[in-house]
Amino acid sequence: MKYKRILLKLSGEALMGERQYGIDPKRLAEYAQEIKEVTDLGVEVAIVIGGGNIFRGVAGASNGMDRVQGDHMGMLATVINGLALQSALEDAGIPTRLQTAIKINEVAEPFIRRKAMRHLEKGRVVIFGGGTGNPYFTTDSAAVLRAIEIEADVILKGTRVDGIYTADPEKDASATKFDFITFEDVLRKGLKVMDTTAFTLSQENELPIIVFDMNTNGNLIKLLKGENIGTKVQL
Ligand code: UDP
Repeated sequence: MKYKRILLKLSGEALMGERQYGIDPKRLAEYAQEIKEVTDLGVEVAIVIGGGNIFRGVAGASNGMDRVQGDHMGMLATVINGLALQSALEDAGIPTRLQTAIKINEVAEPFIRRKAMRHLEKGRVVIFGGGTGNPYFTTDSAAVLRAIEIEADVILKGTRVDGIYTADPEKDASATKFDFITFEDVLRKGLKVMDTTAFTLSQENELPIIVFDMNTNGNLIKLLKGENIGTKVQL
């Protein structure tokens, strides 16, 4: 396998499946199967999940809500998604632990780096909920931060599109996909991969990012077997 330890970032919106809001159990079950295929082959998997399918702090603020209050709601939304994902993974027979950046001890373990790494070594999938635990951050930043902390080899950002394009492929038919691109080129060309905080943290710590389509069955395992799936952002 190409990578031994991965950090998979799933957006909250991905969990909606065909829905407009909330969680689609069918989509969750599909993700669980995809993840099982790779854990069965010995890949260590950590997951950071977003919360956009339930609540975003920015959306609250645009409706007059205090931003920090909204961000707290957003972080709790990621914990809800984490619990849902944990159930789906365990239904698929994968041992898991949910660790949160904000303490909810009756519900999940607190984030403890050494514990997280030990779980991974033992073959458990570790889901990190609650983002970074701080308002004004995103779950992309949480994904990069946790990936660096647990010494993941790569961050895999599962999205609806199959990689990074020269322009928005939904708007420009002549747009072409990059197989590889450097961090500098992403910045120079003004391409959107992650928010700037998350992207810079990844660049500074030389953590490669692969953007790929998580909704096409088999993509995750193909990517890990070294097939040319998605776009890799590297130094
Ligand atoms: N959030 C936060 N701090 C973090 C991560 C997330 O305050 O470290 C809040 C923020 O309000 C954000 C929401 O949680 O809008 C959901 O996260 P995000 O928008 O990153 O989820 P995604 O877009 O991946 O579904």
